[in-house]
Amino acid sequence: MDWKDALPEIVTQPGSRLRFGEPLAKHTHFGIGGEATAYIEVSTRNELSALAHFHRQWDVPIAMIGRGSNLLVSDSGFKGISIRLVGALAKLEMEGNVVSVGAGLSLPKLSKTMSREGLSGVEFALGIPGTVGGALIMNAGAWGSSFGDVVRNVTVMDDTGSLITLTHDEARFEYRCSGLDTYFCVTGATLELEPGDAAIITARMQAFYKQKVETQPFAEENAGCMFKNPPGDSAGRLIDISGLKGYRMGGAEVSTVHGNFILNIDNATAEDVLELVAYIQDQVREKTGVSLQTEVKRLGFDCRNI
Ligand SMILES: Cc1cc2nc3c(=O)[nH]c(=O)nc-3n(C[C@H](O)[C@H](O)[C@H](O)COP(=O)(O)OP(=O)(O)OC[C@H]3O[C@@H](n4cnc5c(N)ncnc54)[C@H](O)[C@@H]3O)c2cc1C
Repeated sequence: MDWKDALPEIVTQPGSRLRFGEPLAKHTHFGIGGEATAYIEVSTRNELSALAHFHRQWDVPIAMIGRGSNLLVSDSGFKGISIRLVGALAKLEMEGNVVSVGAGLSLPKLSKTMSREGLSGVEFALGIPGTVGGALIMNAGAWGSSFGDVVRNVTVMDDTGSLITLTHDEARFEYRCSGLDTYFCVTGATLELEPGDAAIITARMQAFYKQKVETQPFAEENAGCMFKNPPGDSAGRLIDISGLKGYRMGGAEVSTVHGNFILNIDNATAEDVLELVAYIQDQVREKTGVSLQTEVKRLGFDCRNI
């Protein structure tokens, strides 16, 4: 029996769905990427746990996907199962200023709900089009705040399907990374927010969003900042002074609004993006002496470094 024949037995709940040969371009902000052999939206913890067992039993590669807002998928796609968390795995529950969030919850939804409730700490997240899971893995942040700052603990699942609660320190949050990607997946977190005036918190959230929309490309397809900022500097500034804004390879172009964004302006392929990334790295190294490291995660590539 093939694993593809066994998979439908696991995804059975009404809020969950399974598709074979799903184009991942549909599930990434870049709008780039080939098909996943299987794509699952999973809505219950039991099914997720069964998928962890399935992964071990059949030795099938698994890739968790949030909103695909920090992801470059290869043109040949992903030979395995992509999983997105929905339903009960995207929930939000509050008890005073302690908020329990599922990893599938959208960050803009979290930010808006918390501002309405008069809880401060995630105002920066309205302009980050990802999920709680992606934000925990990446320690996403903006305007001097990072998601890890408000996390009390994180729940992860291991590949036996068991849940483990990690403290803030055990999650090992650093600049745009964490120690959470060694587990089968992240299922949620408990956040501790600061009570405050809902109108003031909402105004701060809207001001952050306005500033972001004015200084970063929002209309075109992209994956946010392509490179991490080197210590004490900004990748966008280095790309700008290297004369690369507007530089194009195939359908991919360096944004003229913000140099650290690569845009899919005309049916770009993942290869176009990789070539542009390598060119930017070479040019910035030659002109400034700095080696830029990518922030965007890759899926479905071999171990080539970009
Ligand atoms: C227009 C735009 C603006 C952006 N602005 C910002 C910004 O200001 N600050 C910032 O930090 N980022 C920014 N980003 C990048 C991105 O939105 C964040 O990194 C976000 O946290 C990614 O979340 P996601 O759900 O889309 O993750 P994805 O891109 O889907 O995945 C990212 C990584 O997390 C893993 N992952 C996702 N969910 C899980 C899970 N449940 N369990 C285990 N692994 C998981 C994936 O496998 C992958 O390795 C921006 C992106 C865009 C397109």
